[in-house]
Amino acid sequence: NRRIVLASRPNGLPSTHNFRLEQAEMPTPGPGQVLLRTEYLSLDPYMRNLMEEIGPTYAPSVPLDQTMVGGTIARVVASKHPQFRVGERVLANAGWQDYALSDGQDLLALGDDPRPSLSLGGLGMPGFTAYVGLLDIGQPKPGETVVVAAATGAVGSAVGQIAKLKGARVVGIAGGADKCRYAVEELGFDVCIDRRDPQFEQRLAEACPDGIDVYFENVGGAVFDAVLPLLNVGARVPVCGHIADYNSQNLPAGPNRLPLLMAAVLQKRIRMQGFIILDHYGERFEAFRREMGEWVASGRIKLREDRVDGLENAPEAFIGLLQGRNFGKLVVRVGEG
Ligand code: NDP
Repeated sequence: NRRIVLASRPNGLPSTHNFRLEQAEMPTPGPGQVLLRTEYLSLDPYMRNLMEEIGPTYAPSVPLDQTMVGGTIARVVASKHPQFRVGERVLANAGWQDYALSDGQDLLALGDDPRPSLSLGGLGMPGFTAYVGLLDIGQPKPGETVVVAAATGAVGSAVGQIAKLKGARVVGIAGGADKCRYAVEELGFDVCIDRRDPQFEQRLAEACPDGIDVYFENVGGAVFDAVLPLLNVGARVPVCGHIADYNSQNLPAGPNRLPLLMAAVLQKRIRMQGFIILDHYGERFEAFRREMGEWVASGRIKLREDRVDGLENAPEAFIGLLQGRNFGKLVVRVGEG
């Protein structure tokens, strides 16, 4: 029974030394518990935040020497829980380890779903994030321009495709020509701009001749600087993440941008709203699973997975995610499945 613990807190970009692979005892389920065998582990940007010692926030930090947290797809291998049978497959939160116990409260039975790992991506937390952020906060109307970065990633790819289904014009931003080509040719985005293009700012402005009505904020940093002057009066900005800053230890160089931001928000009556997807499961998850399930089954939404083999490779893959080396939803294949 292997597990990966947080060995030390990172300074800037994490390194493999911040993690340690350990052998742990095989846990035994008590009354009301199940023993889970991890098949797939989801790697997500929020884990970087939980590696820091942070004050009260949406989720507690990972304590030093404790198992890294994470969503998983698992098989029930022993059960003393009335609702879960041995052999059943579930969506769980077992973290970076081979085996874990659960009292069943955080489990969702997946039945005989032929592509269970999609419940870690487009049909799970990241897809749900796209759905709630775009539809409830962004509220795109037909003909409006929607911009989203990390466009081929777990959240961004769903944002762009849902926006297209709602009749919007979609401009993606991604790292590299391959990702941009995929966003247009496979995902059906109208345009996709390479964020590493030296002319990025100009290219984005050219791609948005009518300005930007909805900017789904995934990345912050230089992308946000280029987006800000293009926002239209009445623009909506669902603030989902700002991965460009997650490893920063200092404020960005240059002038203080706060007055610029405040003036734009005021004069253009921009609505920016942060959201944490954990708050929305109660009222929106069922509608999401039904609607997104239909879109995926009918091929109207495509989901791309970037699959890495072996729990031991999780740290390196996670570090790659923070640098844009993933192409699609990043999952680790841990055990059979
Ligand atoms: P992705 O699969 O999109 O992977 C992260 C991507 O971020 C990379 O592939 C890279 O794409 C991009 N990226 C990395 N560094 C930078 C940078 N410096 N500037 C611009 N882009 C960068 O991850 P997710 O879809 O899981 O997450 C996307 C965002 O959504 C994150 O900010 C995450 O924190 C947030 N999120 C928020 C939730 C909430 O509840 N609010 C829930 C889930 C996710 P590329 O190379 O193509 O630019």
